[in-house]
Amino acid sequence: MDNILEIKDLVVRYETEDGVVKAVNAVNLALQQGAAVGLVGETGAGKTTLAKSILRLIQWPPGRIVSGEIIYRGQDLTQITEEEMCKIRGNEISMIFQDPMTALNPVMTVGKQISEVIAAHENVSNDVAEEKMREMLAMVGIDPDRAGEYPHQFSGGMKQRVVIAIALACNPNLLVADEPTTALDVTIQAQVLDLIKNLRERLGTSMLLITHDLGVVAQNCEYVAIMYAGEIVEQGSLRDVFKHGVHPYTEGLFDSIPKLHEDVERLQPIDGLMPDPANLPQGCKFHPRCRYAKDVCGTKVPETVVLGEGHTVCCHRFGAEKDAWKGA
Ligand code: SF4
Repeated sequence: MDNILEIKDLVVRYETEDGVVKAVNAVNLALQQGAAVGLVGETGAGKTTLAKSILRLIQWPPGRIVSGEIIYRGQDLTQITEEEMCKIRGNEISMIFQDPMTALNPVMTVGKQISEVIAAHENVSNDVAEEKMREMLAMVGIDPDRAGEYPHQFSGGMKQRVVIAIALACNPNLLVADEPTTALDVTIQAQVLDLIKNLRERLGTSMLLITHDLGVVAQNCEYVAIMYAGEIVEQGSLRDVFKHGVHPYTEGLFDSIPKLHEDVERLQPIDGLMPDPANLPQGCKFHPRCRYAKDVCGTKVPETVVLGEGHTVCCHRFGAEKDAWKGA
């Protein structure tokens, strides 16, 4: 299947008074047409920066894409003009942000917010935009007669439905969803995720879903990329990563979540904290927290090793240095 998006060697930095924040470090990631990739990692791993880079929403100062390519349908988004990028945003690639409260304009009716997006991206009359807006509201489970109401008249879950309606109003080819349910109650989370899944299936939209929740990935994605300190440390199909994940950080993430069929007294959190991106450790960025670390890990950056079709890992235990672990 063709790739709709290919990120190659992407490097993003924030140049602050306190130093250079290395938010995204040589990331490679591909997304097939119609598929969903879950981008997983702890807070501060660089997930949101990566997502914003795709839509070129990193603001300078202090942030900028330093190098690399973001190939969307054969076109490098890092090289096109802002005018060309404006046509792609919303029309072809849409983003759902974490917090629906801040994504909506509080002084504009929800109907107007949806129809404005349609009118801005599609060359249609106001009547057609209005009709499509009502269709979108119905599609996300909101009574179209509520189009004249303001965001504060909706609950958190309903507001996120409005955000989804705006994101999908122009049938984008790619949806970037950044923790779309984090700000919602658990029961509403499941409803909103189901809604995104059903709409994607109906519209054939590809998705990059950013989350720290492996359960959300299991239910919504076919592929998984594990991100740590600005790098993708392991990626592959859902099965590769969930059943045969080998990176020590991937292992740690799975050990830290409860399992239905295992009776454990205590969950095992990963020791230590994500490093400061303005002061990353030498060698493997995970080595200060890794239970398998050896001397080489503190000095040499591990290369990406291919374990199987589409399954890669970035760890010395599987590359040229693997003999150091023999007999361990
Ligand atoms: Fe751990 Fe070394 Fe692998 Fe890094 S390279 S994850 S420190 S074993």
